[in-house]
Amino acid sequence: MSAYPLAQQTREFFRTQCFGHMIDGEMRQSASGETLPIYEPATGLEFARVAAASRVEVNDAVQAARKSFDDRRWRNLAPAQRERCLRKLAQLLIAHRRLLSDLDVLEGGVLRAFSTFMVQLGIDIVDYYAGWPTKMAGSMPASSPDVVVQVVREPIGVVAVIMPWNGPSAVPLGVVPALACGNSVVLKPSEETPLTAVLLAQLCLEADIPPGVVNVVQGVGEIAGAALVEHPDVDSICFTGSAETGRRIQASAAARLKKVSLELGGKSPQLVFADADLEAAAATCAAAVWGHSGQICIAGSRVLVERRIHDEFVRRMVAASENMRIGSGFDPSSQLGPLISQTQLDRVSRYVDIGRTEGARIVLGGQRHGGSGYFHEPTIFTEVRNDMRIAREEIFGPVMAVIPFDSEDQAFTIANDTEFGLAAGVWTRDLARAHRASRHLDVGTVWVNTYARVDPGVPYGGVKQSGFGRNLGEHSIEELTRLKSVWMSIA
Ligand code: NAD
Repeated sequence: MSAYPLAQQTREFFRTQCFGHMIDGEMRQSASGETLPIYEPATGLEFARVAAASRVEVNDAVQAARKSFDDRRWRNLAPAQRERCLRKLAQLLIAHRRLLSDLDVLEGGVLRAFSTFMVQLGIDIVDYYAGWPTKMAGSMPASSPDVVVQVVREPIGVVAVIMPWNGPSAVPLGVVPALACGNSVVLKPSEETPLTAVLLAQLCLEADIPPGVVNVVQGVGEIAGAALVEHPDVDSICFTGSAETGRRIQASAAARLKKVSLELGGKSPQLVFADADLEAAAATCAAAVWGHSGQICIAGSRVLVERRIHDEFVRRMVAASENMRIGSGFDPSSQLGPLISQTQLDRVSRYVDIGRTEGARIVLGGQRHGGSGYFHEPTIFTEVRNDMRIAREEIFGPVMAVIPFDSEDQAFTIANDTEFGLAAGVWTRDLARAHRASRHLDVGTVWVNTYARVDPGVPYGGVKQSGFGRNLGEHSIEELTRLKSVWMSIA
C-alpha cells in the first residue's frame, strides 16, 4: 500500500472490508473464488484484490434489483421519505470525504486537489437529486369533457450503471439520479477502480435505502459488464466509457430494445483567438490537458490557435507547463499524477511515437517519467495537422496537439472536423464571435473564456461519437423515467 500515511478512516476501511459484490444488502465474494488485482498507479504495486463476477453473481444482483423494484420497497416510499434517505446519503458522503479522496488517489492515481473537487462534486450531485423526489410531476393535458387524462412519470425499473476508471468518486453521479426517480440499480464500476462502489453501496444501506435497491457487481467488462447488458431483467443502461465499448453495448442492448444512454470519449478543441486574454487562456488550456494527466473525457486536447499569436501562445503554454512536479497524488506538491495502468502508459507512449512519425514537432516532454509507477511527461506537439492520428484519436493522456488557423471560419471547420462532439472551449473578447462560435460548434457543451465548469443543474453529454442522452439537471430525470398516459371516462 501507499508509502504515504492514510487517514484513520481509510485504514479502518481496509481492515474491515472484503472487496466483493453487494447483492441484496450483503457483501459477497464470487462463487468461483476468482479475484482481480488492484494496483496503485503511483507505484505500480498491487495493494488489494477484488472479487470478479461471473454470470452467476450478475444474475443474482439483477434478480435482487428486480425483486426490490417489483415489490416497490423503494419507489413506493413517500417521496419525502426517499428525499430523507438521499439527504442522509449526502451527509454520510461528507462524513467519509477523506476516505473517498484517499480511494481516488490510491486506486485512481488522482491528485489530492482534483480528488477534493471530484468528491465535492459527488456530494453536490447527491444534494441536488435529494430534492427531486417531491418535485417529480406528471401532467393533465386538456381533453374531451367525457374523460380525464393523466400523464404520469414513473421509474424505468432496473437500471444498469456501468462506469469507467477515470473518476471513481464520480460514482454517485451514475447511481443517485436513478435512485431519485425510484429505480433499482446494479452498478458495475471499472475493474481498475472498484473500491469506491463498495463504499457507496454500504453508505446507501446506512442511509436507509432498502437492501436490494443498490447492488454492485465487480469484474471485467467483457464478462460482468457484457452479462449485465444482456440480462433480460435489466430495463435500461447508463454507460460512461469509451466509444468502442459504447458501440458494443448499444448493439447488445438493441436485441431487447433496452433504453441506453452513452457518455463517451472526446477530442475536444480549444479555439484561441488573437484578441483573447492570452495569459488566462494559456493557463487554462494547459490545465485542461494536464488535469488528471489528460484522462478526462473533456480534456481539451486539440488546441487551435490563431496563427499570428501561435508562437507567443505556445511559449506561454510551455512556460506554464515545463516545471510541473510529477508524482503521487498523496504528495501535496505534485502537479501531474500517474496514468491509470501500464497499458495506458504504453498507449500514450505509442501515440507520442505516432505523432513524431507523422511529422509533428515536440516542444515539451515526450518521455515516460521515473522508474516506477505509470508517469508520463506533459507533452506538447506543434506543427500538427488535423488529419494526423494524434489530432483525431482520443489518447487519454497528457498529450496536447496544437494546430494553427488563419480565420474564424477555418477555426470552426477544424474544430468540427472530428468524429467526437463532447465539448469545446472558445477564447475571445469579441462577444459576437463568442456567440457565433457557440452556434457553430457541434458539441454538447461550449465554454467561453473558461473550461470544464460543471454544475449538478446543468445538462452534460455529447453528440456524434461522444454519445447521446444527457446527465445532470432535470434531464437525468427524463432519461431515467418513462411516461404513462391514463384515460378515465367520466361520462
Ligand atoms: P471502457 O469503455 O474501457 O470501460 C468502461 C466500463 O465499461 C468499465 O466498467 C468496463 O469494465 C466496462 N466494459 C468494458 N467492456 C464492456 C462490455 N463489452 N460490456 C459491458 N461493459 C464493458 O472505458 P475506460 O477505459 O474505463 O474509461 C475511459 C473512457 O471513458 C474514455 O474514452 C473517456 O473519454 C470515457 N469517459 C467519458 C465520460 C463522459 O462523461 N463522456 C466520462 C468519463 C470517461
